[in-house]
Amino acid sequence: MSTPSRSADIMRRSREIFPGGVNSPVRAFGGVGGTPVVAERGEGCRLYDVDGREYIDFVLSWGPLVLGHAPPAVLEALDDAMQRGTSFGMPTELELRLGLLIRERMPHLERLRFVSSGTEATMSAVRVARAATGRDGILKFEGCYHGHADSFLVKAGSGVATLGLPNSPGVPAALAELTHTAPYNDLAAVERLIADEGRRIAAIIVEPVVGNAGFIPPDPEFLPALRRLADASGALLIFDEVMTGFRIAPGGAPERFGVTPDLTTLGKVIGGGLPVAAYGGRADLMERVAPAGPVYQAGTLSGNPLAMAAGYATVSLLTRELHARIEARTAALVRGLTEIAARRGVPFSARHAGSMWGFFFRAEPVRSFADAKTSDTELFRRFFHEAMARGVYLAPSPFEAGFMSAAHGDADVAQALERMDAALGAARG
Ligand code: PLP
Repeated sequence: MSTPSRSADIMRRSREIFPGGVNSPVRAFGGVGGTPVVAERGEGCRLYDVDGREYIDFVLSWGPLVLGHAPPAVLEALDDAMQRGTSFGMPTELELRLGLLIRERMPHLERLRFVSSGTEATMSAVRVARAATGRDGILKFEGCYHGHADSFLVKAGSGVATLGLPNSPGVPAALAELTHTAPYNDLAAVERLIADEGRRIAAIIVEPVVGNAGFIPPDPEFLPALRRLADASGALLIFDEVMTGFRIAPGGAPERFGVTPDLTTLGKVIGGGLPVAAYGGRADLMERVAPAGPVYQAGTLSGNPLAMAAGYATVSLLTRELHARIEARTAALVRGLTEIAARRGVPFSARHAGSMWGFFFRAEPVRSFADAKTSDTELFRRFFHEAMARGVYLAPSPFEAGFMSAAHGDADVAQALERMDAALGAARG
């Protein structure tokens, strides 16, 4: 008689209280099958589940933990802030410090507003764009995920793609009709859409590097063309950098690709593992936000002092030198995986940008969500479970990016590659 694992027991009880047993859908392993493991603690690049198993973690809480789990500097900053109180609902100097630090690294955020989730950030950025242009339409890309606000649940990525539910019931048809979509990297489709609908489009919103349909970088001409098409049609360009911010380059997408958006959304890394996100950009646009202007947006816990302290500690430690070190290890991981797949004769393509990376079981590079769906998702599922059984935790979906942290040393990367080599051998059967 086998003893049920603590993870399985906790998940069984959780399903009796939370929908699907979880508080965010992708955690339920719908994309790979099986029962999720339940986390107990993390340290550096390692994660430990409630059954005492250890994993090298490449999910990192879906991106925020760029310094790894429980970095001492962040814990100290949190402890210091906590001793003074956990929330005031008043301005604090901590907000100012983090705001200025972000603007120093990303000067195109002339003004910004802190919120508590990426969903709030993207929803609010679109509200500003609609107010500024007097238009209602938006253009987004298939497979891009911008949070769960009504306007974005049209051909979305991430959990909605994983579960095969790209459009959600409960979104009013009248609102969904305002959301136009085009395939990522398909300029001809964008040009057609702008020609037909351009005068009604308030904003083009895009993940400058897609992380929510698997990892898909933009073709070299894609982002410059979006900038040009937005300008020509009077739409604003929004870079959703909730995932890519402080991951693909120290200064974000404008530094990496030389294209500057009108508005930017940030999240994940800027909270260092606590709930922080932000939207910002051109001062003339952000000055429309209440109370400076009439576009309303507010939050009881916005700019929460614990979250600001964790964010400041994280972003201030993420220097250019450290960013370069993490990027080098990410490149080594992607190189190693590519070599393993080639040696084993498995169709495979893997890429990275900064400390964000991803792979598909498909020989040709993936340029769109439609391409991603032609990868061998069955092999991914088997590989995911074999990797987990050997102590490597990957995102439980073929349509999610991976992440690297400062806590992943060369030896950890080498150990992860050894484990994934064996996992791929077992997954092929
Ligand atoms: N935008 C992007 C690009 C994201 O990857 C995510 C979440 O993964 C969001 C927005 C939504 O952020 P949150 O989950 O904090 O609401």
